[in-house]
Amino acid sequence: MSESERNILVNGIEDKGVTDSNVLSALRKVEREKFVPLMMRPTAYRDIALPIGYGQTISQPYTVALMTQALKVKKGDKVLEIGTGSGYQAAILEKMGAKVYSIERHNDLYRKTQKLFDKLGIRVSTKCGDGTIGWSEHAPYDGIIVTAGSPEIPESLKKQLVNGGRLVIPVGGKQTQTLKVVTRESEDEYEIESIPEFAFVPLIGREAWDKE
Ligand code: SAH
Repeated sequence: MSESERNILVNGIEDKGVTDSNVLSALRKVEREKFVPLMMRPTAYRDIALPIGYGQTISQPYTVALMTQALKVKKGDKVLEIGTGSGYQAAILEKMGAKVYSIERHNDLYRKTQKLFDKLGIRVSTKCGDGTIGWSEHAPYDGIIVTAGSPEIPESLKKQLVNGGRLVIPVGGKQTQTLKVVTRESEDEYEIESIPEFAFVPLIGREAWDKE
């Protein structure tokens, strides 16, 4: 049942213009229902963001697909995610063969999702803390994905990219943001592309919003 629902959802995402077959195939495999609260399971395969507790949300599947496509992940890439949340985005990246590091600032959510990764056998390195300053111990990264909206692009994150690496981050006001795709061209040269109109929960930390 859930497999056919998932296929219908992913066909819809494909119709909306996501073309990367590795992204689509990961979306067909990862069981989104496992990442949402029990009560929300009947709606797990609707293309909408859903509440996961602690005032946070699991992103809309189309948004996850678009951001992952923008990241251009290849097998074996080292990827840093800021905002582990439910763990769904990290699970998609892991399914695509990336070596995933993920940071969550809410301690309870961090612990809950760590338990879920263990239970499902998903290999993601996680930590609890402020992701706006990145995770320098494992830098540089081929890709960095930020799943909460920021007022600006944190400098620390740009500096933790390899040359040629990409940072995908929603930037804007607290209500709506533009998706920025930052490519590090060389040591101190960055190219920035924009994809308009998204709505994420706020990124809170030293190099972003200072409160909810
Ligand atoms: N990727 C998640 C989306 C969760 S919503 C998923 O697939 O479910 C964004 C998450 O970012 C929230 O859980 C929020 O607590 C977290 N967050 C906000 N600011 C943060 C920061 N500075 N560092 C790490 N996590 C942060």
